Amino acid sequence: MKVSKMLISTLKEAPAEAKIDSHILLLRAGMIKNEVAGVYNFLPLGLRVLNKIEDIIRQEMDKAGGIEILCSAIQPKELWEESGRWKKYGPELMRFKDRHEREFCLGPTHEEVFTSLARDLIKSSKNLPINLYQIQTKYRDEVRPRFALMRGREFIMKDAYSFDKDEVGLEKSYQNMFDTYNRIFTRLKLHYQPVLADTGNIGGNGSHQFMALSDIGESEIVYCDACGYAADVEKATIRLENRLEKEKRELEKVHTPNQRTIEEISRFLNVSSQDTAKTIIYHDFVNEKFVAVVVRGDREVNEIKLVNELHSNENYLVLATEEEILSLKTIHGFCGPMGISCEVYVDEEVAQMTDMVIGANEKDYHYIHACYGRDFEGKICDIKKARAGDLCPVCGRPMNQERGIEVGQIFKLQTKYSEPMKCVYVNEEGKNIPMVMGCYGIGVTRTLQAIVEQYHDEFGIKWPLVVAPYQVVIVPVSYADDTQRILAEKMYQELLDLHIEVLFDDRNAKAGFKFKDWELIGIPFIIVCGKRSNEGIVEFKERMTMEKEELLSEIAVSKVVDKIKKEGEKI
Ligand code: ATP
Ligand code: MG
Repeated sequence: MKVSKMLISTLKEAPAEAKIDSHILLLRAGMIKNEVAGVYNFLPLGLRVLNKIEDIIRQEMDKAGGIEILCSAIQPKELWEESGRWKKYGPELMRFKDRHEREFCLGPTHEEVFTSLARDLIKSSKNLPINLYQIQTKYRDEVRPRFALMRGREFIMKDAYSFDKDEVGLEKSYQNMFDTYNRIFTRLKLHYQPVLADTGNIGGNGSHQFMALSDIGESEIVYCDACGYAADVEKATIRLENRLEKEKRELEKVHTPNQRTIEEISRFLNVSSQDTAKTIIYHDFVNEKFVAVVVRGDREVNEIKLVNELHSNENYLVLATEEEILSLKTIHGFCGPMGISCEVYVDEEVAQMTDMVIGANEKDYHYIHACYGRDFEGKICDIKKARAGDLCPVCGRPMNQERGIEVGQIFKLQTKYSEPMKCVYVNEEGKNIPMVMGCYGIGVTRTLQAIVEQYHDEFGIKWPLVVAPYQVVIVPVSYADDTQRILAEKMYQELLDLHIEVLFDDRNAKAGFKFKDWELIGIPFIIVCGKRSNEGIVEFKERMTMEKEELLSEIAVSKVVDKIKKEGEKI
């Protein structure tokens, strides 16, 4: 492709709203462009990368036995009522009515549609197992769309759904997808980690997420180097430390004027935050009740675990307001589990404590020497967030913590959708049996940006060869110079004949300007025809390492070919 005929739209500066490197670089390199928050257009270079990522996903899905279909984004309300999610999904679901007042949504995911397809199309157990997938646009009205493709309101997902006769079949299908995801993310050159995950809005009883490791990731994971346990903090459990039981002392109410936070109270009373417990009040709109949640003072509440414990929904569980708290005969900043007029949920760690500080439900007062079981009780559960230093639930060694970008998630759905939606097959005895399902998603556009987040430097993007928009660019230092131009054209033609994805920078622009563009865009190989063109010598530069060398033009061409072959890519 001749660059003068392309739509190259690099920018010197990114708009101010771009805060993270990958967002800035995708805009500056002219890969994407947007008009509305969370909604992006793909420009020619960005689209080429997207297509390559999709190709790799498609190849691996097909190899694993997946069958590709393509469903509409428009889904009728009735299907979502069958699964019970029309009400439950909350404000993220983009709903609309047609001119006849019929209600629809734009699919944020496709469990209902695929279950309905399987129900209609698969009648005999001979068709099972089957894995259907698509690469398609999804819609979610995210509260905070941000970081460009990372959290869009419109994004591309590869979603697959497996249908099996029984649990044993599901285990196999799930493992098959787990292995396939590992192959996909390895081929995409991501540094990633599969982790145990919560099942969230999708449901089911087992799940893994695939996390691209990155400091800007919105997910937190804890992992154990010793045994390999790794989990999203939303899901992670920990082994409780064997803390020495403290001698029980008499409960005492103490005056703690204006000491509201755990830091304030531990400083004021000169106790470690680990010897305090905090009580947080939530309003659960699903079950229409208030709950008091008690965790150790130095801990955070894990709201996902809490949602699961309460059988509530994350969109409908919020912190109680100060007025609501007053209505429960307590006061913000001094809440405690003793005598509060709502249900109390106590973290397992607090349930082991025999001498702690708690709020007294009275302004400017706390209790000291409170003991679980003697002074207060509640439903014991695990509702804390795990963190670095906590003990691994499997082997008991201290765990580490890292941030990750969730690029994929797989779920064992079992019969969560097939049962209510009556997606059944007829077994040998003529009985209707619900199909056992799994579902498997990859955020295709998010993955594209995760690659940029992992592969960039101060000059721009460093696309791994397998996903680069073009593999090589040839740049004559001066297009007006006949020798340079003729050598460049010759190499361009040779590479084209070899079916290599090559760009020819035939722009009449300053050399420095052209080089900056290619470094920003991140073409893996940059061949410069400069002052030694008369000797047939060019400069060969690798974007990933920024290493340069002078080579005879034929050698430069064969080097490109070799490198591409070595990557196992087709030419
Ligand atoms: P998150 O927790 O990040 O909101 P999710 O768990 O709701 O994601 P899934 O329902 O598991 O997402 O969707 C499958 C994949 O789709 C995710 O692993 C992620 O890579 C991608 N994805 C989800 N939401 C978005 C979004 N708003 N923008 C871009 N990609 C997304
Ligand atoms: Mg997910």
